[in-house]
Amino acid sequence: REKKLKYVYDFTEGNKDLKDLLGGKGANLAEMTNLGLPVPPGFTISTEACKVYLESGREPAALRDEVSAHLDALEQRMGRTLGQQDDPLLVSVRSGAKFSMPGMMDTVLNIGLSDASVAGLAAQSGGDERFAWDSYRRLVQMFGNTVLGVDGDLFEEALEAAKRAKGADSDLGLDAADLRKLVGEYKAIVAEQAGRDFPQEPREQMDLAIRAVFDSWNTERAKLYRRQERIPGDLGTAVNICSMVFGNLGPDSGTGVAFTRDPASGHQGVYGDYLQNAQGEDVVAGIRNTVPLAELETIDKASYDQLMKIMETLETHYKDLCDIEFTIERGHLWMLQTRVGKRTAAAAFRIATQLVDQGLIDEAEALQRVNGAQLGQLMFPRFEDSVDDAAGYQRIGWGIAASPGAAVGKAVFDSYTAVKWSRSGERVILIRRETNPDDLNGMIAAEGILTSRGGKTSHAAVVARGMGKTCVCGAEELEVDTKRRRLTAPGGVVIEEGDLISIDGSTGKVYVGEVPVVPSPVVEYFEGRMHAGADEADELVQAVHRIMAYADRVRRLRVRANADNAEDAARARRFGAQGIGLCRTEHMFLGERRELVERLVLADTDTERDDALNALLPLQKADFVELFEAMDGLPVTVRLLDPPLHEFLPDITELSVRVALAESRKDANENDLRLLQAVHKLHEQNPMLGLRGVRLGLVIPGLFAMQVRAIAEAAAQRRAAKGDPRAEIMIPLVGTVQELEIVRDEADTVIAEVEAATGTTLKLAIGTMIELPRAALTAGQIAEAAEFFSFGTNDLTQTVWGFSRDDVEASFFTAYLEKGIFGVSPFETIDVDGVGALVRSAAEAGRAVRPDLKLGICGEHGGDPESVHFFHRVGLDYVSCSPFRIPVARLEAGRAAA
Ligand code: ADP
Ligand code: MG
Ligand code: MG
Repeated sequence: REKKLKYVYDFTEGNKDLKDLLGGKGANLAEMTNLGLPVPPGFTISTEACKVYLESGREPAALRDEVSAHLDALEQRMGRTLGQQDDPLLVSVRSGAKFSMPGMMDTVLNIGLSDASVAGLAAQSGGDERFAWDSYRRLVQMFGNTVLGVDGDLFEEALEAAKRAKGADSDLGLDAADLRKLVGEYKAIVAEQAGRDFPQEPREQMDLAIRAVFDSWNTERAKLYRRQERIPGDLGTAVNICSMVFGNLGPDSGTGVAFTRDPASGHQGVYGDYLQNAQGEDVVAGIRNTVPLAELETIDKASYDQLMKIMETLETHYKDLCDIEFTIERGHLWMLQTRVGKRTAAAAFRIATQLVDQGLIDEAEALQRVNGAQLGQLMFPRFEDSVDDAAGYQRIGWGIAASPGAAVGKAVFDSYTAVKWSRSGERVILIRRETNPDDLNGMIAAEGILTSRGGKTSHAAVVARGMGKTCVCGAEELEVDTKRRRLTAPGGVVIEEGDLISIDGSTGKVYVGEVPVVPSPVVEYFEGRMHAGADEADELVQAVHRIMAYADRVRRLRVRANADNAEDAARARRFGAQGIGLCRTEHMFLGERRELVERLVLADTDTERDDALNALLPLQKADFVELFEAMDGLPVTVRLLDPPLHEFLPDITELSVRVALAESRKDANENDLRLLQAVHKLHEQNPMLGLRGVRLGLVIPGLFAMQVRAIAEAAAQRRAAKGDPRAEIMIPLVGTVQELEIVRDEADTVIAEVEAATGTTLKLAIGTMIELPRAALTAGQIAEAAEFFSFGTNDLTQTVWGFSRDDVEASFFTAYLEKGIFGVSPFETIDVDGVGALVRSAAEAGRAVRPDLKLGICGEHGGDPESVHFFHRVGLDYVSCSPFRIPVARLEAGRAAA
């Protein structure tokens, strides 16, 4: 039996929770209607109808009758019929999906007007001919453009020509006769461009507009937007039919937009714009200058007061900042749209705490009103707010805010110069039309990157975000001439190579000269520094402080830091780290210690090797003592040496050249010759998959034992100093439990020796990284020999996908992002279906064998908001991330648990 589906809902039938069915706009129109607010009557065609249309290519059979029934009811209620000659009912046809989506059909206003009814409209408006013809010309223009696909510029040109002919500087300068003539021209444009006449039959206008809304779901722009934003492609859009009210009926009419509080600061007050004698989109389109909403109080006090009351009702009801669209028709206020409004990061934190104080939401809800990305934004240094007005700082461009931060430097136009200048200590901004993989070195060398082409997924944007480097892209008004090494801005401002330039990756703005940078008050707060800033900053810091406290109270995931020196550890602690989840030991082999590593590699005899190791031991131990002291009382996971040894040796090409030159001079040095041999021997095609991690420990006798000894002795020394060291030893790149068992036995022996020698019991936990698919697949076996797992999701992502991060991010990731294969790089956000599935099953298998197995993750994903939620769901004990991302991880862990 076929279920009788309902496709059309009167505004009185819906509510705000029905966004799936009615779209955002429809659901909120219904909500306002049911709140008793003045919404022009209307009805919504559901997304279900759209889905049927998209699947079958036809409207559902029942739709026409259902629309007719609702239209009849509407006509009854309004006392006139759609397009009725002497008194036409007019409607708007408005698209509205669950998520608001640029690229979909615009709204068509004034549906129902025709040659036959335009006079009736004029008569009903008290003989306002101008108004009637203005409404009609808007209909032909919008309908022609959005429903019939006629190039909108053609209408704009005709309008401009009419204004010019009249010497008018705005549309208000055109009278009824002018507009009537314009309608004629518009209709001619439609007939010529669309190959059909503008439809005169009102119902046909409406049906065509409805179908156009359905079709607009699948425009290329809409599809691309959905892929990028990961919006499912099969949701469909709703269509709202709303009886028209008129803001263009004279000076006592108008239209406006408003926010219930300031979306920039969160302050309560009157924020918005109003435009007299105008319809719908005129406000946003900027065709005439709007006035601040506050002026409405003098223009029309009664409507203003009513609007203020409605705004309060909406805030209390939605318990959040709302933005609204309204129209005043001859002193009568109408609400045309509302939704929970977008806001800046700072406002999000402040509004959340304000709403808690007002008793509108609780702490758990406050946590949902902010997110880690916003907190991250607040942690970047910024240019001073007043920059735009300050003398001497001229804004020359406004591009896409692709990667946040504030960067100042000298303009350079190629990678080579960027690298050369930065080596000599200059700060540079790399300016390109667009970047490609050849620009990589320059991007690394630069403080920031500026391009005139490309969007948020352009090469520059993707790579800069990956590097955490400030980037403004797609600043199209800037003309970049790389040959002449200069940039030309509108107004003829020219930036030559070497001129100072400032770019703001959080706003996309570009300035001439050096704009002063102010540190983020939020970072100052986390650093525990006293902050004597402006009130705004104080309020923000207070709000962040409270939200962080809520998050810490509810979160289950602990947050540790990736840090390998005392300074980073101390900062991490200030930022709230509950230990170190990854201390890399590679830096302990760099600098002056390289020579000892060379000796280790070159050792021919056991004695030579032991000498080299014995020389490294005290140095490593000293490093650990410092670190354990900085993290006293908290766990510190030390990873034994992981990278391939060649990374510590001279570069193969440089060394070859040196040796060849020396040989030609016949003074080749014996050590260099041996070194070159060793480097050749260690050279690998795929070092990432070569001799590294636990393999080093198994192949180079004594290496891991030395490291374990350094850890154990450092711990013993801290104990002796009445400290509380909590070291954990982590073996990298294990693929099978046998590897781990061998290294473990060796480590246990060393630890026992140190314990005996120092008379202390050290209780050092030994565990492993899970970063190879095989380790994840045999996690049950590995857990027999490991007291903890730490998921190395960077390597795990590389090995599961089979691509190397260093090579692919700059090469084909842009293409993958553009094609929508990734919504975001899997190195940034954990690939839940692939890599994540392995993490989940390994965690379960490990815990099944060893219920108290400690589980953590120490890849870059540890500080990524979405990934943190996943790790919470999988039941890990902690995430570990770079010190700077700790607050974000704490907040997201709280949000995941709240
Ligand atoms: P968007 O989603 O692009 O804002 P809308 O459907 O909200 O599109 O409509 C565009 C403009 O037309 C808005 O300013 C809206 O307030 C106005 N508008 C829509 N429907 C009506 C109506 N029935 N009467 C008067 N103005 C309307
Ligand atoms: Mg709108
Ligand atoms: Mg690794």
